[in-house]
Amino acid sequence: MSFESSGLSSALVRATRERGYLEPTAIQAQAIPAVLKGLDVLGSAQTGSGKTAAFALPILQRLLDLPRDRPRQVRALLLVPTRELAAQVGDTLRHFAQYLPEPLKIAVLFGGVSINPQMMGLRGGADIVVATPGRLLDLLDHNALRIDEVGVLVLDEADRLLDLGFAEELNRILGQLPARRQNLFFSATFPPVVQGLADQLLRDPVRIEVPLAPETQPDILQRAIEVDTAKRTPLLRHLIKEHGWTRVLVFVATKYATELVTHKLGLAGIHAHAFHGELSQGARTQVLADFKASRVQVVVATDVAARGIDVARLPAVVNYDLPRSPVDYVHRIGRTGRAGQSGVAVSFITADAEAHFRLIEKRQGVRVPREQVPGFERVEVAAPVLDAHGGVKGQRPSKKDKLRAAAARSRGG
Ligand code: ADP
Ligand code: MG
Repeated sequence: MSFESSGLSSALVRATRERGYLEPTAIQAQAIPAVLKGLDVLGSAQTGSGKTAAFALPILQRLLDLPRDRPRQVRALLLVPTRELAAQVGDTLRHFAQYLPEPLKIAVLFGGVSINPQMMGLRGGADIVVATPGRLLDLLDHNALRIDEVGVLVLDEADRLLDLGFAEELNRILGQLPARRQNLFFSATFPPVVQGLADQLLRDPVRIEVPLAPETQPDILQRAIEVDTAKRTPLLRHLIKEHGWTRVLVFVATKYATELVTHKLGLAGIHAHAFHGELSQGARTQVLADFKASRVQVVVATDVAARGIDVARLPAVVNYDLPRSPVDYVHRIGRTGRAGQSGVAVSFITADAEAHFRLIEKRQGVRVPREQVPGFERVEVAAPVLDAHGGVKGQRPSKKDKLRAAAARSRGG
C-alpha cells in the first residue's frame, strides 16, 4: 500500500510528503484502512514505528468525510499520558491538517500551565482535542468543553493510560463519552493485565501486531556496563567524551538524582539539564526544545520522559539507574534508534542492580553481554538478600552443601 492508494485525500498525502514520509510504515499500512472503515483497532508496534500517523492521518480523513451537526464540536478525543506527548501529537496533527479544504481546530490540553488560556482557547469549540486525563477533567468540571459528541477515542501509549495510575481519571472520562464510538488503542507494549482491560473497552477490534522482524527492529545496540555506584558519573562523562555523543538522554530514578547528576556534569563542563515531573511546564518545554535544537547536550530525566517523546537523531540513552519495570526499559531505550536510525542504549549495572537487570533481560528474551570499562571496573559486591530462614535468597544449596548436611545428619547432629 502507498499513501496515495490508502484512501487518504491528496491534501493529507501532500503533508506526509512534506514531512519526508515516502512509504507508510507497517503499522500505518495496516491501521489506516481499518480506521477509515470505522473499526476499533488495537495496534501494537515497537517504539519509533510511526504509530502517531497511523491514527492521526485516518482520523483527519474521517472528520472530513463524516457529517456533523454543528461546526467545532469535539469529534475526536486523543488521550496521552504526558504533557510533552500531548504537545507532540498536537503538532503532528496540525502539520497533517494544514492543507485540508476546511480548517480543523485542534486543541491541546495539558496540566502544569495556567488553565485560563486553555479555557479561552476552547470558547469557540474544537474539532479535535489532544489531552492528558487530569487537565481534561479539570476543563470538563469547568464546563469548558463537552465530549458527549466524540465519535473517535484514541489512547496513545494505551498500556500506560490503562494501568492503575490513570484508572480513576480514565473511568470518569469514559463515563462522559457516548457509548457508541470508535476506539483506537496504540502502544509498543501490552502487558496481559492491560490486554484484558482493553478487551472490555474495545468493540470487535482489528488487532494489529507488527512483529519484531529483524529487518524492522529498531537498530538499538544494548550495552550493559558493570560499574560501582559512586563511579557512575565519571563513567558517564568518560562515555560521552569517548563516543562524542552530541545528545544523550540519561535516566535516573528520582527527581533528586536528576538534579544531582546534572550538577555533577555541569561541574565537568558538560551542558546538562534536569527533567522531571515537578518542573514547571514552561521549564519542561524549554528543556526539550533546547535538547532538540542541540543547545543542551545531556538531559537527565525521570521516567516522565520515557514515553512517546520523539527526538530526532538521539544517538544514546543511558540507564544511570535501572527502571523499575521491564516495560519501562523498553520505552526508555525506544527513545533512540527511531525512524530507521541507529542508537545505543547503555545500562549501568551496579552490583545491587544485577539481579534486577537479569529480570529485565529475561522479559525481553535477550542477554546483554556485561562489559567493564578500564579504569571503572566494578569492585563492589551485592549485599546478600536473606530469605526468611536466614539463607541467601535465590541461592540453591549446592551438591557440596547437601553432602555436608547429610553428613551432619548421619553424625546425629
Ligand atoms: P511511535 O509512536 O511508534 O513511537 P512516532 O509516531 O513518534 O513513533 O514516529 C517516530 C518517527 O518516525 C517520527 O519522527 C516520525 O516523524 C517518523 N515517521 C513516521 N512515519 C514515517 C514514515 N512513513 N516514513 C518516514 N518517517 C516516518
Ligand atoms: Mg508514539
